[in-house]
Amino acid sequence: MNKKLRKAVIAGNWKMNKTRSEAKSLIEELKPLVANADCDIVVCVPFTNLETALDASKGSNIKVGAQNCHFEKSGAFTGEISADMLVEMGVEYVVIGHSERRQYFGETDVTVNKRTRAAIDAGLTVILCVGEMLEDRELAITDELVAMQTKIALNGVSKNELSKIIIAYEPVWAIGTGKTATSAQANEVCAVIRTTIEKIYDKAAADAMTIQYGGSMNAANAAELVAQPDVDGGLIGGASLKASDFAVIIDAASK
Ligand code: PEP
Repeated sequence: MNKKLRKAVIAGNWKMNKTRSEAKSLIEELKPLVANADCDIVVCVPFTNLETALDASKGSNIKVGAQNCHFEKSGAFTGEISADMLVEMGVEYVVIGHSERRQYFGETDVTVNKRTRAAIDAGLTVILCVGEMLEDRELAITDELVAMQTKIALNGVSKNELSKIIIAYEPVWAIGTGKTATSAQANEVCAVIRTTIEKIYDKAAADAMTIQYGGSMNAANAAELVAQPDVDGGLIGGASLKASDFAVIIDAASK
């Protein structure tokens, strides 16, 4: 598998953090620090910050994403946002299937597939999250589980549409815990996902697929993680909230 075929993507998941004014300041601070980056940069912000983030990032190399979208186009779904609504604003990316959505908001592999389908149909690029719980790892079912999550999420997605998908391998036990997967563990599961893509589609599709690692990636450990042959960047929570730390991670992925 040739890592050089793929561009690394560093995406920040701000979760439920930052007011509009804080969002503007963070992006303004980040812009000059990452202007020469040689990787794609995305900030996935709360819905209320999308307009601010789009304005603040205009003319820069920072793209904007949302953290979820609904699978229906419109209707009686109080509190939800459709993919078309995001596209109309100028949003280009959306995180789908984050473990916090799966854990706290009833997201299932089937709804992840429906949201993925809707997001692609609307023209968004999906950052599709998969990953095992600690119990799964202890039962030694990580590979099977992550392969299954990947297969279900991509059900009905054609090979051509894969250019609109980034997969983020995020072991749930490593998210927001300060417990990072070792670079070997991260690479091993990213490789399992790549093999799964090869089985569903073909080798060319697997070679071209951007597969990120996410889970307590920070300024200190990013270089080793993103240097792994099957790791094409990262999805970063906590460390994306500080411009200087996020810029170090972006720099590591640009090498
Ligand atoms: C995430 O929110 O996807 C994430 C990986 O969070 P953290 O970097 O804080 O573990």
